[in-house]
Amino acid sequence: MTTKPTLEQPHRERECVHRRAGAEGDFYGGVQFIRALQQMRGEAALAMAQKVGAFFWSDAPRVSVWLCRACAREAALAGPDIAEADAA
Ligand SMILES: [Zn+2]
Repeated sequence: MTTKPTLEQPHRERECVHRRAGAEGDFYGGVQFIRALQQMRGEAALAMAQKVGAFFWSDAPRVSVWLCRACAREAALAGPDIAEADAA
């Protein structure tokens, strides 16, 4: 298996550092991710942001963020449809 360097991705994607290690996870919306960061303490939010990589917040609506289960839990993003799951 080889991995091509992807400098310019037509579809903007970010992923946490654990994806390469083969962790399981899901994609979340960039806006959702940023909202989650805003709920976290500054230090924790910064650490989480560094795991995923930087992107302009103005690009968030066009960015997909892949998080492993552990990172999703850390960011309190239990699932892509967390709001609906809570309502059930
Ligand atoms: Zn992770």
